[in-house]
Amino acid sequence: MGYGFVLLQDEQGERPWQRIRAQRLDAAQREELAARVLACVAERFPDVAAGISASCDFRGVVTLSGQCASYQQLCDLAHAVAKVAGVRNVVSDMTAADVDIPRRDYSTWIAAGEKACLLAECDVVVVGLGIVGAAICRELSRTDLRVIAVEAAEDVACGASKANNGGVHHAGGVTPGTLKAEMSVLGNRMWDQLADELGFSFDRCGDLLYVEDPEDIDELADEFKTAVRNGDWRPRLIDGKQCLEIEHTLAEYGHKPVMGLWMPSQGRVNTYEVVVALAENAAANGVRVMLDTPVCRVETERIAGVEDGEEGSRRITGVLTSRGLIRCRYVVNAAGAYSDEISAMAGDRLFTIHPRRGTIAIIDKAKPPMYRHLTGHMNPEKKQGRDPNSKGGGMEFTPDRNILIGPSATEVPDKQETRTTDEELGFIMAINENPEVSERDIIRLFAGSRPADFSEDFQIGMSEVTRGLVQAGAIQSPGVGSSPAIACMVAGIIREDAAREERPVGENPAFNPRRDRPVRLRELSHEERDALIAERPEYGRIVCRCEGITEGEILDVLRAPIVPRSIDAIKRRCRAGMGRCQGGFCQPRVLEIIARELGCDPTEVCLHGPGSEVLRCDSRGGSGEVSGRA
Ligand SMILES: Cc1cc2nc3c(=O)[nH]c(=O)nc-3n(C[C@H](O)[C@H](O)[C@H](O)COP(=O)(O)OP(=O)(O)OC[C@H]3O[C@@H](n4cnc5c(N)ncnc54)[C@H](O)[C@@H]3O)c2cc1C
Repeated sequence: MGYGFVLLQDEQGERPWQRIRAQRLDAAQREELAARVLACVAERFPDVAAGISASCDFRGVVTLSGQCASYQQLCDLAHAVAKVAGVRNVVSDMTAADVDIPRRDYSTWIAAGEKACLLAECDVVVVGLGIVGAAICRELSRTDLRVIAVEAAEDVACGASKANNGGVHHAGGVTPGTLKAEMSVLGNRMWDQLADELGFSFDRCGDLLYVEDPEDIDELADEFKTAVRNGDWRPRLIDGKQCLEIEHTLAEYGHKPVMGLWMPSQGRVNTYEVVVALAENAAANGVRVMLDTPVCRVETERIAGVEDGEEGSRRITGVLTSRGLIRCRYVVNAAGAYSDEISAMAGDRLFTIHPRRGTIAIIDKAKPPMYRHLTGHMNPEKKQGRDPNSKGGGMEFTPDRNILIGPSATEVPDKQETRTTDEELGFIMAINENPEVSERDIIRLFAGSRPADFSEDFQIGMSEVTRGLVQAGAIQSPGVGSSPAIACMVAGIIREDAAREERPVGENPAFNPRRDRPVRLRELSHEERDALIAERPEYGRIVCRCEGITEGEILDVLRAPIVPRSIDAIKRRCRAGMGRCQGGFCQPRVLEIIARELGCDPTEVCLHGPGSEVLRCDSRGGSGEVSGRA
């Protein structure tokens, strides 16, 4: 007999994240907190403590400087400081003796932006079009606010949102009392409606964790208690027989569960597909999307009589991009790994991002998942070597039923470093529980970086320092599942603030929540295919043989509200190149279609943005070579 629970988010429940955000420290309290921080460093890191200094602002945000012996020590030290009572977050100005921490150079963009004239005026600029920025844009498009979304990359979903497991997680693995936990539970409930409205694939697959050794039941019970405390819906502790009823294949693989935790709230998406859907719907509802437009300075004005860096000392007036100035009242900071830098540009040093890389292997569809649901054996050995701050790490699968193995978790100093390494490959293959899958079945190995801060919580809210700066940064896992709730929270903050300023936000009377699901020939019956091909013969021409993608589907995405310009952008939208050969056969055809449809020269078509052009020159005149570069 299992235990059924239906829980709702408790408004009165303990919300430590709100308490720490509400605190205001006077000069003496700041000094006292900085002294406690240094005492903690002296005790835990005596070898470097003499060279570390700490200062503290009115919120309890501690800025650390000095040198650590290694980058890993820097992360450990900042994490330890973030746990000192009263510390709200940690800004690191520290260096590491073993590595230079790369910094983004904005000078070329600033020079270009200053040369250009006024680019636009609006109410809200959303910086970054990953899943968080795109969800926010779509939510804001319900209103009459004039919104511009600026993205540094050549397409949407080019940061962490293109390289993750796509889990819409249950709340069993998130620390209770964090904003992460709250957003995760609230966001999780919004996915069925979102998928229905926007026409992307969503699989509410559920998650079954089981133990085979009665000694391990405590682990399972802890996860259950966490899920219950967080307000997850219907987590159930079940016996071994019930485990086999939910996932009968367990027996076929010789597993003998004695107890299980069934969490039906777990779901799966292709995150990049969701980002495209959100951004396209936002654009269709009036949001102006500017790709290849990095923000390089945030324009603010000083508030007279308030010392810089103190509460309410600045107000947003605009952003400088590489294409010119955009004047606005609000800047939403959804810049992922660079959200700390956007915040600092606006005068608010609230947190530092320390990217945590995760490597994931995609397995050929010829090796289907073992189970219908996410199913994992829980035992203490599996936790060994895992990063305590990272979720995930197991056998998962995509809505298209490709097995995913991973991710790993490695602190890396470079925000753009998404290398894959032998060591991390070894780590994720050790997680593999499918006896039929080996390294030979991997069709793609890739890595993404979690934009984590040292508090290991999300940073969402109106900046206390700079009025008009709305933070939606440091969104690490479960950022995908939480994104719909984050978007509602950000829109709510802007609405409230505008009402306070006596400029209330109205509704967008033309808002249409729906976006048609793109045609996917492989999902249609033979009769439906015949009818479609009779009308548009390009649906009868297969381009990507592995995934069965036709020219018609590629043309559809090239005619959508946000036009993809690279081969990878096409892949993210319709899966051409996503299969076993990874574009080996179809890439030249896709390139040709892009060039033809966008009216550009084939040599201008990139794999993933400027600098990744695939062809060097046209050799048809016999004057040069054509070679693959990217
Ligand atoms: C390996 C791995 C596995 C994960 N698995 C899961 C999972 O299963 N479930 C889950 O919920 N979460 C998961 N996550 C976390 C999830 O991927 C992130 O929480 C989420 O993608 C963050 O989205 P974002 O929009 O904040 O950031 P991003 O997707 O990184 O988007 C930020 C955008 O801002 C742009 N930008 C940066 N600077 C500027 C600038 N100056 N001007 C303009 N634009 C700028 C970037 O180009 C980027 O496109 C995983 C993460 C990793 C790395």
